[in-house]
Amino acid sequence: MKILQNYINGQWVDSNSTETANVVNPATQEVLARVPYGSETRKDIDLAVNAAQQAYLEWKNVPVLKRIQPLFKLKQLLEENRDEISRLITLECGKTLAESNGEIQRAIENVEVACGTPMLMQSEFLENVATGIDEFMIRQPLGVTACIAPFNFPAMISFWFLPYAIATGNAMIVKPSEKVPLTMMKIFELLSQLDLPKGVINMVHGGKASVDGLLEHPLVKSISFVGSTPVARYIYATGTANGKRVQAQGGAKNPVVILPDADIEMTSQIITDSVYGCAGQRCLAASVVITVEDNGKIKESLYEAAKARSVGYGLNAGIDMGPVISPESKSRIEHLVDKGVAEGANVLLDGRNKKISGFEQGNFISPTILENISLSGELIKTEIFGPVMSLLHMKTVDEAIAFINSGVYGNMACLFTNSGSNARKFRNEVMAGNVGINIGIAAPMAQFPFSGWKDSFFGDLHGQGKHAIEFFTQTKIVVERWPKEWARKF
Ligand code: NAD
Repeated sequence: MKILQNYINGQWVDSNSTETANVVNPATQEVLARVPYGSETRKDIDLAVNAAQQAYLEWKNVPVLKRIQPLFKLKQLLEENRDEISRLITLECGKTLAESNGEIQRAIENVEVACGTPMLMQSEFLENVATGIDEFMIRQPLGVTACIAPFNFPAMISFWFLPYAIATGNAMIVKPSEKVPLTMMKIFELLSQLDLPKGVINMVHGGKASVDGLLEHPLVKSISFVGSTPVARYIYATGTANGKRVQAQGGAKNPVVILPDADIEMTSQIITDSVYGCAGQRCLAASVVITVEDNGKIKESLYEAAKARSVGYGLNAGIDMGPVISPESKSRIEHLVDKGVAEGANVLLDGRNKKISGFEQGNFISPTILENISLSGELIKTEIFGPVMSLLHMKTVDEAIAFINSGVYGNMACLFTNSGSNARKFRNEVMAGNVGINIGIAAPMAQFPFSGWKDSFFGDLHGQGKHAIEFFTQTKIVVERWPKEWARKF
């Protein structure tokens, strides 16, 4: 069985670690590869950081117009290799081919936006701040930067950071999720074809040990993390304590509110796509659906739309939803459903113990709906990260907003309505970083920061767009005087 290599200093190299973890197809349990794991991966991190530091010292002085040229080729390579990358995402992550394809589109859009760095990186100049004195601000790269990615978007998430980091003159080390490293292997095969100096981009595999290596290395200047809230909190606390700039995106439990004037069919279709897309393993998946003054129609429509989704192997045609990532994840989700029931919820649609013919070993759960989960229980506070909708009924939009704002997460909140004034009130009052009005997944496009509030984000500047440019640069203020008396006469 193949042991995956790291990409360090422009070369594919074996890890220093002999310990490995299996990369597994979640629909079949087939072992696809073995990925370096364990404490010895820290040595790989040291090698990558040293190479990245050397590369950065030259790369930072390459003109920005030259630094973005490889990104144009990267866009082309990603487009040409789209089918193969999509297939790899589905193989190791389980989502459907259409979902994998959509993920690559979002990655490409970040490359496109980062091509605007020559404009985005420009700064401010003020002549005569005092007589004969000018003042200006320049943006300079940080040095060695690192990106630590989760399993659920094996291609896209590194692209919230990587194109911006290198366009602004940094070097980067990517640490993919050990559960889904094959997609990033393919992407690094493409990155290695770009005209980039060796060491500017590096990939090191592993789990906690390689992450700790990055958090503790003095030459690593910034950490961009996406994953669960407990790990995000740890990354933020440790990284900042070690003097690094950190942006750490965490977990979620996203509420969606449906007012009685919303279009029933469109709303239930969009909401079921949001809850069950990628088997509920999206940080922007709707999780808690709140009806206001429902006469039973929206509940029925949500039930029918959820029941109609076809579950199966993501590589097969006609499939709406694949498996969850691992047997542990499947059993955790099913236990949470049990817990919801024990806390008083009614199981409207039960997807536990789903078996798919020909894929009996797969981690499948069908769409599940829990109605009236306890507001004082544990489940209402717990991220499920699976295909489970918690359906609640409330009387007013104010009650729904107050409930949302009492939660610990703040990744996304959405409202479905025909009323402009209720929409305006909602977006003004709701405490979430990404808000959707008649939208089920309020995912910011690459031009906008991928926001997130409360326990869904630790830091100041988010990924994507101008925030990414700011995150990957430090500002330097220059105050300059050139006395007239010193002027040479020509
Ligand atoms: P995870 O936190 O388990 O792992 C994320 C990364 O951290 C991986 O690379 C992993 O190797 C590393 N890691 C895991 N445990 C660690 C530890 N103890 N110390 C140091 N590093 C550690 O997350 P996951 O299961 O891969 O991804 C799912 C989670 O990510 C969900 O909670 C989801 O909501 C969240 N997510 C958030 C966003 C967002 O934008 N807010 C986007 C995608 C996913």
